[in-house]
Amino acid sequence: MYDINHIYEANSVEEAIQRRIEQPQALIISGGSDILIGIRAGKLAGCDLISLYMIDELRGVSLDEDGTIRIGSLTSFASVTKSPVIQKYVNVLGEAADKVGGPQIRNIGTIGGNTCNGVTSADTASTLMAYDAIIELTGAEGKRLVPIEKFYLGAKKTDIRADEIQTAVLIRPESYRGYHGYYYKYAMRSAMDIATSGCSVNVRLSEDKKRIEDARICYGVAGPIPLRTRSAEQAAYGQPVSRDTVEAFAAGALKDVNPRTSWRATKEFRIQIQGELARRCLTEAINRAGGIWA
Ligand SMILES: Cc1cc2nc3c(=O)[nH]c(=O)nc-3n(C[C@H](O)[C@H](O)[C@H](O)COP(=O)(O)OP(=O)(O)OC[C@H]3O[C@@H](n4cnc5c(N)ncnc54)[C@H](O)[C@@H]3O)c2cc1C
Repeated sequence: MYDINHIYEANSVEEAIQRRIEQPQALIISGGSDILIGIRAGKLAGCDLISLYMIDELRGVSLDEDGTIRIGSLTSFASVTKSPVIQKYVNVLGEAADKVGGPQIRNIGTIGGNTCNGVTSADTASTLMAYDAIIELTGAEGKRLVPIEKFYLGAKKTDIRADEIQTAVLIRPESYRGYHGYYYKYAMRSAMDIATSGCSVNVRLSEDKKRIEDARICYGVAGPIPLRTRSAEQAAYGQPVSRDTVEAFAAGALKDVNPRTSWRATKEFRIQIQGELARRCLTEAINRAGGIWA
C-alpha cells in the first residue's frame, strides 16, 4: 500500500541528526499525516524515511524559567490544545490546533509537521506567526533559532538545513504577556476541511482598556506562505478601541494580502473574506482583552 524503500527509526535527536548526515536523500516523518498521503499518491514512491516518532524528548509543552513556552516538535495538536500551559498563556494556539482536521488527525499530526511542511493553510502557522514564535532547529553544529517569519522561504520551502531537524517551537514571554487573541478558520464546511483562509490576531491594550498598544495579524492563504500584514498593524498602533480603528485595520490588511485563485475559492472571494476576518478577529481579540469601546 505504501511504497517505502527503507525506514530508519531514530530513538534520540542525536541519532536522527546522524541519520540525516548518513542518508541525505531520506525524508523526515513525524506523524505522517502529510507525508504518507504523498507516498500513497505515488509522488514520493520508493522514498527512504527517517522517523522521529519514537523520540519522546520532543513531545510536550513546558514553561522555561524565563517564561518562554517550549512546545516540542512532536507534540500532537490534541496535546497542544489540552496543555495547561497553552490554555493559561496562549489559549488561541490551542484553539487553532483544535480546528485541524478531525480527532484522528489531531491525535497523530504534530506541530512540527504543521510548520515544516511549509504550507500557507496550516492552522497553527498563522497563530504562531502572530505570536512571533521562534523555530528551534538542531543539527550537527548544535541549536539554531530562527524567527518563524524567516523560517518560511516560499511555498513548501522552509529554512531547514540538510543535517537538521526541528526540535521545538518557542514563544517568548514578551510575545504573549498582556496579549489576547483570536483565530478564525474560514472553511467551506465546519467538518474536516482545509482553510479557504485563516486569520489570527493578537492585541495588547492600554491599562484603561481604551487604546490599542500593539496588534499583530497573520493570515493563512493570503499568499504562498503565512502572511503578517504590517499595514493593518500600523493602522492600529496607539489608536482608540473603536469601530473606526477596526475599519482602518481591515483596510490596512487588504493593502497587503495577495491570495490566489484555486479550486477552493477565487482570489476575489478570498480578498472579500480576508477583510471580514480582520474585522472579526480584531473585534473578538479586543473583547477578550476587556476592551472598552468608544
Ligand atoms: C484528512 C486530513 C485532514 C487534514 N486537515 C488539516 C487541517 O484542517 N489543518 C491543517 O493545518 N492541516 C491539516 N492536515 C495536514 C496535516 O495533518 C498537518 O499538516 C500535520 O501537522 C502534519 O504533521 P505530521 O506530524 O503528520 O507531519 P508529517 O507528515 O510527518 O511531515 C510533514 C512534513 O514536515 C516534515 N517534518 C515533520 N516533522 C519534522 C521535524 N520535526 N523536523 C523537520 N521536518 C519535519 C516532513 O519531512 C514533511 O515534509 C490534514 C491532513 C489529513 C490527512
